[in-house]
Amino acid sequence: MTPKADSSRLIVLSGPSGSGKSSVLARVLASGDLPIRRSVSVTTRPPRPGEREGVDYYFWTPQQFQAAVHNGEFLEWAEIHGHHYGTLRREVERHWKDNYWVLLEIDVQGARQIRQLFPQAVMIFLQAPDLAEYERRLRQRGTEDENSLRRRLDAIHHELAEAPNYHYQLVNCDLELTAAQLRQLLLAIIFQTPREPQGGGNDA
Ligand code: 5GP
Repeated sequence: MTPKADSSRLIVLSGPSGSGKSSVLARVLASGDLPIRRSVSVTTRPPRPGEREGVDYYFWTPQQFQAAVHNGEFLEWAEIHGHHYGTLRREVERHWKDNYWVLLEIDVQGARQIRQLFPQAVMIFLQAPDLAEYERRLRQRGTEDENSLRRRLDAIHHELAEAPNYHYQLVNCDLELTAAQLRQLLLAIIFQTPREPQGGGNDA
């Protein structure tokens, strides 16, 4: 497998906070039968109860994050809702080396950077059925204080405006159904669809 072929095995899943990305993805990947690995991102936000280092995120200090930016360790990174998040180059390359597809669960800013670097990446956008549903889900989840919740809700319009730039759109009305749809889509992407690169390609 050449590096070029490896770098075409990239899938991006984006969508506003509250669209259900993590829950849907956890369902789909739990079976472990897909040749896909989720890239664990770095974040400077504090862990939520139950989140585990190296499983949900790598939780770094702002200083550690800046040093890694300086050293070119990120494929992409962004400031989101007042914290920094980034995809480590080595994390992605590790999975490619093991012959897996890599899935990045990242925001729309990061997705734009990945699209530039890897025009062949498959881009999937997940959204909730309507605007009120985001707030309902975020409140129900109970992980955000009021400030963080407001910041996340304020970002939704701008994030939704990016949806047309993605190859596939899913509307998450029901967790099980959406997980089944995403699984079908991933199977089609991986096993059935021969895709031509959309641009020059980049092995960054
Ligand atoms: P949360 O704080 O809810 O875990 O994540 C906030 C947002 O950051 C979500 O939209 C999530 O997809 C995004 N995110 C997580 N990791 C990364 C990353 O490595 N890069 C970028 N650009 N966004 C990320």
